[in-house]
Amino acid sequence: MVDSHAHLADEAFSADVEAVVQRARAASLTGILCIVDASDPEEIGRADNVLSIWDGLRTTSGVHPHRAAPFAGRPNQAAELTDARIQAEPLVRAVGEVGLDYHYDFAPRDVQRAVFAGQVRLACEDGYRRLLASQMETEARLASKKAAEYIPPKNMPPYNPSP
Ligand SMILES: [Zn+2]
Repeated sequence: MVDSHAHLADEAFSADVEAVVQRARAASLTGILCIVDASDPEEIGRADNVLSIWDGLRTTSGVHPHRAAPFAGRPNQAAELTDARIQAEPLVRAVGEVGLDYHYDFAPRDVQRAVFAGQVRLACEDGYRRLLASQMETEARLASKKAAEYIPPKNMPPYNPSP
């Protein structure tokens, strides 16, 4: 069993992330996908520590919809940051967490859509066939389904924590 969506590099886990991982292993998890925001250098730094705890850990790269606002007018920069982390971290296994969040609306919706679209494009162009999308609202689910249309399911291998 794999946890495919764990924000272990969040500041909230800074004090006890090793214990959290140990409990997950004790509960028979065989892998954990650690979500990392590519626009947050501090989270990326914490992720370096998290990924060293256990060889069952893998990670993601993406700009979360909550953090899309700074990319207004330059959504491609979000995709560039996502790509930079993919290139720098060999344990990246998915583009995420990305998507649309119309519940909290921390970023304008048009900016969220532009940032999401850029990262979907990146995921497709780079052959990154796994896209971990935030799905909090109906429109976000529809957008994710649309994104999935660009990603041939037959080319999507099952998650495998092995390198
Ligand atoms: Zn999440």
